[in-house]
Amino acid sequence: MKTTVKALVVGGGAVGTSIAYHLAKAGWDDVMLLERDELTSGSTWHAAGLLPLFNMSYATTHIHKYSVDFYKELEAETGLNAGFAVVGNLRMAQTEERMDEYMLYASTAETCDVPYEWMTPDQIKAKWPLIRTEDLKGALYHETDGYINPADMTQAMAKGARQRGVVIERRWQADAFHWTGDAWEVTCTKMIEKGGNLIPSDEQIVITAEHVVTASGNHAQTTAKKLGIKIPAIPVEHQFIVMDQDPELMKFRAEGNVEHPVIRDADAQSYVREERGGWILGVYEKNAPAVFEYGVPDSFRADLFPLALDRIEDQYMAMIHRIPSCEDSGLKDDFNGPICYTPDGNPLVGPAPGLQNMWLAEGFSFGITAAGGTGYYLAQMMVEGEAEIDMASLDPKRYGDWMTTEFAARKNEECYDHVYTLHHPDEERPACRPLRTSPSYDRQAARGAQFGFVNGWERPNYFAPAGFNDHDARSFRRGGWWDYAVAEAKAIREGVGLVDATAFTKHRISGPGATAFLDWFTCNKLPKIGRINLTYALTAHGTTRTEYTIVRLSEEDYYLVSAGAWHAYDQDYLYKAIKEKEPEFGRINAEDVTTKYGVFAIAGPKSRDLLMDVIKDADPATALSNKRFPWLSAKKIELGMCPVNAIRVAYTGELGWELHHPMEMQNYLFDLLEKAGEKHGMKLVGARAQNWLRQEKSYRAFGNELGRDATPAEADLPRFIDLNKDFYGKDEMIAKGVRSKCVTLLIDGPDDADPWGREALYTDDGTRVGRLTSGGYSVAFDKSIGLGYVRPELAVVGTQLKVRMLNQLWNAEIVEDSPYDPKNAKIRMDG
Ligand SMILES: Cc1cc2nc3c(=O)[nH]c(=O)nc-3n(C[C@H](O)[C@H](O)[C@H](O)COP(=O)(O)OP(=O)(O)OC[C@H]3O[C@@H](n4cnc5c(N)ncnc54)[C@H](O)[C@@H]3O)c2cc1C
Repeated sequence: MKTTVKALVVGGGAVGTSIAYHLAKAGWDDVMLLERDELTSGSTWHAAGLLPLFNMSYATTHIHKYSVDFYKELEAETGLNAGFAVVGNLRMAQTEERMDEYMLYASTAETCDVPYEWMTPDQIKAKWPLIRTEDLKGALYHETDGYINPADMTQAMAKGARQRGVVIERRWQADAFHWTGDAWEVTCTKMIEKGGNLIPSDEQIVITAEHVVTASGNHAQTTAKKLGIKIPAIPVEHQFIVMDQDPELMKFRAEGNVEHPVIRDADAQSYVREERGGWILGVYEKNAPAVFEYGVPDSFRADLFPLALDRIEDQYMAMIHRIPSCEDSGLKDDFNGPICYTPDGNPLVGPAPGLQNMWLAEGFSFGITAAGGTGYYLAQMMVEGEAEIDMASLDPKRYGDWMTTEFAARKNEECYDHVYTLHHPDEERPACRPLRTSPSYDRQAARGAQFGFVNGWERPNYFAPAGFNDHDARSFRRGGWWDYAVAEAKAIREGVGLVDATAFTKHRISGPGATAFLDWFTCNKLPKIGRINLTYALTAHGTTRTEYTIVRLSEEDYYLVSAGAWHAYDQDYLYKAIKEKEPEFGRINAEDVTTKYGVFAIAGPKSRDLLMDVIKDADPATALSNKRFPWLSAKKIELGMCPVNAIRVAYTGELGWELHHPMEMQNYLFDLLEKAGEKHGMKLVGARAQNWLRQEKSYRAFGNELGRDATPAEADLPRFIDLNKDFYGKDEMIAKGVRSKCVTLLIDGPDDADPWGREALYTDDGTRVGRLTSGGYSVAFDKSIGLGYVRPELAVVGTQLKVRMLNQLWNAEIVEDSPYDPKNAKIRMDG
């Protein structure tokens, strides 16, 4: 058996097999796949094989679309028929709100070239008379997807992989991983059968691999232990039942009618498809338990759990309502198998935290649908250094060290339970909360804070009066919270507000190599001592990897602030880069101070007056003046008895300071500011208002406008790029040119809705020319606002475009960057 390879893929399910295939297709000719049992013996064998294109995420929609296109070509390449039935997919809506959801989804689909059409209940009835439609509002129909045989599809990919030189070894388990500095030494054990169980034998070999990918399905927890990392992939039970033949269906088909599409009755938490004259009913029911939290027992192989009929009774009744002809069909077969989940439902695809050349492809709940695209895009990342789409929303480092088994298990159960709930863009899920709270959490809760969940942190979204119910206020249009966010945004524009930004990621970088390293790592000039700069770390392909606010504390001492949602993701990249460059630049100390400092942002024209009332200084009247505390500078100040590292910057684009303070003194500072704020009418302000305000200033947000699919030049941020210096990714950024460009748009949208940042953009003649990446409401202009990317030739002030919202096209105009206060007069205001 071969013992040295370029890449070793661990796991022979749909996902691992696709990765091996695509690595070979991308040009790596020395790829091996190991499977501890037989190919497809994990979750893959019992999947229902549906290939839903529907997805709210831009990256995942691309992945699913690639898969569906790829599976159609597999037979021609391999000669194996994977049983792809392109029957289409019908998503039915029982409520107007569900139709709103589909309209938002349709916008996302358009941005990814996923075809769809709308159907009325009458059109459905005319085409598929067995479906009851009188209680439906309509449906979204994808003609191009359907279902496939997962095992045959995996075997076809395995054949294609072998044809391209991949070696597939079965009954070998990857057991221990050791990084030598150049390669992984993977100790593998021959697996044998004993009494029906699969157990390790005494036979072991060591395989040396430059790269390792794990795609271990339900074994993710065992894999995590072997690697010494955390992977929040834990399976949940998932069931579907196969019914006996339905005579009405048999008759319908015998009359020459085409097969029914996959019928999704989201409001009834179920899907239905035809199966040999009968129906398959799959459900996403309540109370499905997480399983294998601490690993899969040897006795569980290609096995199933007993059917839990009591859990799916409601969905079964709903199916009989929807397709009355199936009422008398008996139960033919049942499947209750483990389906891997993650807390947010997206798989974990990309570099493993802290490890070199170790790649994860774990936590797939739609692994049949996602396998093709995952293989394709992960192979791009491994072979070329980056994928053509931004894979950040699937990155394994979405959850930091704070994540535990209990958190993952409970969140994964919740995620399963939520598959068919309405996915409001302003949705917040309740499980495992509150978990990470800033000290002033109770105080803010008492003032009506409605919290959002950001990387485990509780962060106020907005503040509402007692008794307000956030859950009932959610909408695809302007939610019940909208008026509160408007009032908060106005408070910052006209008076003063306090925003809790404690969740920010914060690092201290110091040591003799710090300046040289950061100068190489980021694209803007480093600030002078006491000053701050906004800057970007780039990928090897010149696109944006991290946005930093850098404060220079002394010659070789820097304070880095980056997005709170991306703590582990940012840190992993930073630490790996430091490790690589330390020998060249000299010692670099990196300290994660995220939980050491809380952050309150005080912003608004009255912010200086407020702070002057509490600052302790020989001359409080001038302590915060432009002369003593200029814009874009940082100083240590004292507010009452609290030492504060104050940074004169405001994400809202108003006069303001970020107050970075010792976490343990947060409540003292909160009380001090709140009391002093009374006189100035200070309002507590949440993230939703802040998100609108930053759009009025065209401030790009990480994960929206900024990511690995666009360069800082494409994000149109030339003032933060110093082309006179060398920095990582510079040549690649320049070589990319400007493929599309970030712009700000003011939108004459509907009276009751704003864009969410997922909508497609068109020219007058109906040509799609870009997409929104942010959206919201502008209090300054009293209309909807958005940021997005358009073809570079259209990125001109005054260009008239259309944006699709609620299935209609609305006028949108490209406006100058920072339409509110373009000269920054407010932010620079002296006093
Ligand atoms: C009832 C049910 C219905 C489903 N229906 C659908 C559907 O319609 N559409 C859809 O897209 N998805 C569906 N799924 C989900 C789908 O089955 C999974 O997402 C998919 O199979 C995951 O593939 P995988 O390759 O990641 O994992 P698996 O198929 O579980 O494969 C992982 C493999 O890794 C091997 N392995 C683990 N550890 C090691 C090791 N250390 N060394 C060597 N080998 C190892 C295992 O033996 C296993 O074969 C369904 C799931 C269930 C339970």
